[in-house]
Amino acid sequence: MLDDLSVPALLLSMVHMTGDETILDGPDRPLGNYLNEVQGFMSPESQAAVRARALDVIRSFRDGGHQLPPPPTPATLRRMMDFLLGQEIPEEYVPLLVEELELDGVDLREVVLDPTIGADVKEAFHVVVIGAGMSGLLAGIRLGQAGIPYTIVEKNAGAGGTWWENRYPGCRVDVGNHFYCYSFAPDDHWTEFFAQQPELQAYFDHCMHRYDVVSHVRFGTEVMRARWDDEEARWTVETRGADGATSTLVGNAVVSAVGQLNRPKIPDFPGLDSFAGTVMHSARWDPEVALAGRRVAVVGTGASAFQVVPTIAPDVERLTVFQRSAPWMFPNPHYHDAVGPGVPWAIRHLPFYGRWYRFLLFWPACDGGLPAMRVDPDWPHQDRAVSEINDAAREFFTGWMAEQIGDDPELLAKVVPDYVCLGKRTLQDNGTWLTALTRENVELVTEPITKITSAGVVDATGTEHEVDVLVFATGFHANRYLWPMEIAGRNGMVLSEQWGDEPTANLGITMPNFPNLFCLYGPGTNLAHGGSMIFHGECQVRYLMGCLEQLLLRPNGVMECRQDAHDTYIERFDAEHAGMIWSHPSIRNSWYRNEAGRVTVLSPWRLVDYWAWTRQPNLAEFDISSRG
Ligand SMILES: Cc1cc2nc3c(=O)[nH]c(=O)nc-3n(C[C@H](O)[C@H](O)[C@H](O)COP(=O)(O)OP(=O)(O)OC[C@H]3O[C@@H](n4cnc5c(N)ncnc54)[C@H](O)[C@@H]3O)c2cc1C
Repeated sequence: MLDDLSVPALLLSMVHMTGDETILDGPDRPLGNYLNEVQGFMSPESQAAVRARALDVIRSFRDGGHQLPPPPTPATLRRMMDFLLGQEIPEEYVPLLVEELELDGVDLREVVLDPTIGADVKEAFHVVVIGAGMSGLLAGIRLGQAGIPYTIVEKNAGAGGTWWENRYPGCRVDVGNHFYCYSFAPDDHWTEFFAQQPELQAYFDHCMHRYDVVSHVRFGTEVMRARWDDEEARWTVETRGADGATSTLVGNAVVSAVGQLNRPKIPDFPGLDSFAGTVMHSARWDPEVALAGRRVAVVGTGASAFQVVPTIAPDVERLTVFQRSAPWMFPNPHYHDAVGPGVPWAIRHLPFYGRWYRFLLFWPACDGGLPAMRVDPDWPHQDRAVSEINDAAREFFTGWMAEQIGDDPELLAKVVPDYVCLGKRTLQDNGTWLTALTRENVELVTEPITKITSAGVVDATGTEHEVDVLVFATGFHANRYLWPMEIAGRNGMVLSEQWGDEPTANLGITMPNFPNLFCLYGPGTNLAHGGSMIFHGECQVRYLMGCLEQLLLRPNGVMECRQDAHDTYIERFDAEHAGMIWSHPSIRNSWYRNEAGRVTVLSPWRLVDYWAWTRQPNLAEFDISSRG
């Protein structure tokens, strides 16, 4: 069992079991920290020495009746954090990390409402949540804990959103699963470190039942429009069931949890309708479509293609991959590793092993990646990199690709991106992508697609690639938030018109003219520099609960983001983005940006800042009133 474990996390569990702080002074210690490096660069000998000692410690702990010594003092806890990461953690991160760790078993992200809010007040209140993905379920869990009535409307037949819909072969998460789960509901059952879609869907389903959210969800029901009634201080939400029947729901507040990556996008290629074979989007995968022995085309080389291509390549007769721009990738040899039995065992039996392991995954994804994405105006080679560290990443990543390809300069030229490294979604790779591209039955086409015919795909050289199945791994309408719903706010203001191609929201959550409407995973909240969407979701839902508390504190409460607060935030948002890599001119197309090239989708902020700003709403940023 011990062989399966992260030795740095094991060392800290040993501190808990023994109360012996001198473990932190010993020679066997993590030397540093890096994304996906869970052994802290410790030598095999050092790891073996710790495992041997751990066996004695665990035996004594068992024989002593699992009695824990007094918990570490705050000072010791601080030392433990620094020890685990092999570096001194800046003080401003400590409260966030203590909260993430949750060693005292207290879920600090649960909002306990003002005790003066009576049960009758809560009962008279109703929240409509749109979407039962990770965010909507999270909102449901928190609303339930607070005793606030709510209904979740979900267009699909089941929960999980992203993880319900994306069933293409090879679909898996890119953030280590022991971190990509709710902080208050860690899971010890993951069978892979980066679990595949069925396991993720099952996890969200499990949470939905465990926290009794399920009885609040109306599945197979799509929200078509919502209208704000300012006199009544209510939203009227119109829905349509799978059978076409419409109905309405009334809510004091509406929470949009519709995700950024939920509406598949298929480019409008001429002739697409004439294609005689099968067409699928990666997020609308039909498992009934047989691929074995058939000619398949995958359009796109982004995150979904990166997973689907290596998975189906061995089965199909021919696979033609159409690339508009090559993805940057970084090595993670453990990407497809199975979790050994020791990990769930340790999470269940070794005190706080699981919490420290989560911490180990969280920290390198917590703002550590941002410096390599900041533009250093003094860096002289802006054409190829935005800073010295970004250039070093470019060298490293290029070396990783060149090493795999060997002597094939033509393929290398095709797969090394021509834009700055880290400027678009960077993918983690254990070698399967380039292995797939070098297969005999796989061809990478970099010429643009000009049209689709009944028989296949024609590229700019005029070559027709005949295929039986056409897969679009072309992403989503990420910039069209809340689309295609029609949301009418104060004075009939329509959200899609207010936004146009520039969706904006204060903290990505609230918009002027749309009182009592809150977005989760809203404009400018996607993360390309670290973290996980669950972390961001937990920040947003805590903020949401703080807002709902304000509404509950007054009869028919109305809370609307002030225009000046919104504008100030967006000015800061744009100014921050101006110094970030995602706007670099070498990036010709990116789903992070709108048509005009403005980054609308991503957060530029440090996680620690976003976390601090969303702990509770700043009431000065709202017009708050009461209609009663
Ligand atoms: C293939 C893929 C891989 C990903 N990998 C990662 C990763 O590794 N790490 C990470 O942090 N994030 C990842 N993401 C991002 C992922 O979307 C988030 O992590 C998270 O799942 C978002 O949850 P959500 O609930 O906000 O949105 P979603 O999961 O998109 O859920 C939105 C829900 O709203 C419903 N809905 C939408 N419109 C309506 C309507 N009008 N009426 C009723 N219901 C509606 C949808 O049916 C859906 O169930 C990935 C996304 C994709 C597509």
